[in-house]
Amino acid sequence: MKRINIAIDGHSSCGKGTLARQLAAALGYKFIDSGAMYRAVTLFVLRANINPLDANAVAEILPQIHVDFVVNAETGRSDVLLNGENVEKEIRTLAVAASVSQVAKISEVRRFLVALQQKMGADKGVVMDGRDIGTVVFPDAELKIFMTATPEVRARRRFEELAAGGADTSYEDVLANLKQRDLIDSSRADSPLTMTGDYKLLDNSNISRDEQYAIAMGWAQHALQ
Ligand code: C5P
Repeated sequence: MKRINIAIDGHSSCGKGTLARQLAAALGYKFIDSGAMYRAVTLFVLRANINPLDANAVAEILPQIHVDFVVNAETGRSDVLLNGENVEKEIRTLAVAASVSQVAKISEVRRFLVALQQKMGADKGVVMDGRDIGTVVFPDAELKIFMTATPEVRARRRFEELAAGGADTSYEDVLANLKQRDLIDSSRADSPLTMTGDYKLLDNSNISRDEQYAIAMGWAQHALQ
């Protein structure tokens, strides 16, 4: 049976993780949330009181960081581990979201995490979502999907998710954060978010999760032939 890697890139908060998780479950593949790895590094930087804009200081502490995943027995999902500590909840705060794109601009951080990600996908059978998965991490991925939706639709969905989890935040703050991250992620010098010719575009502004899944699964089945 042929095994492939699936790369899902796109703008912030457009449901890449949801789709990646669904595809991985259906195919019996591993789902890897590469954004969680950048968020974990960012959490370490913030806890160490290092300025996320100080690239040299951030690069220096990388050898102290170990990022890994563990299956959460309660949810069945993969949680991210920062030096053995489960930080899945903490990395989703707006404080981390506010700094993560600065940390992710730093080339040493990218080299450090890309090497780990490539190891995770070396035997194929991985669905990974992020910003540079189809361009840098797995340029030879058999299926590359670029996801997007309007900023307002994305902010509304993300705000409702955060509010349901009890977070004290406003729709306006969420919208401002995701626009800011999109801008930094798309304009950085190292591995910017870009849609190249081999991506399939999936704009989910006006389609349901089920429709989105059906489209992506069709692409996956085609890639598997
Ligand atoms: O996917 P998520 O929104 O959790 O990612 C958080 C941030 O991590 C992104 O805004 C981006 O700055 C960075 N990131 C990245 N490359 C990836 C995944 C995430 O630069 N492959």
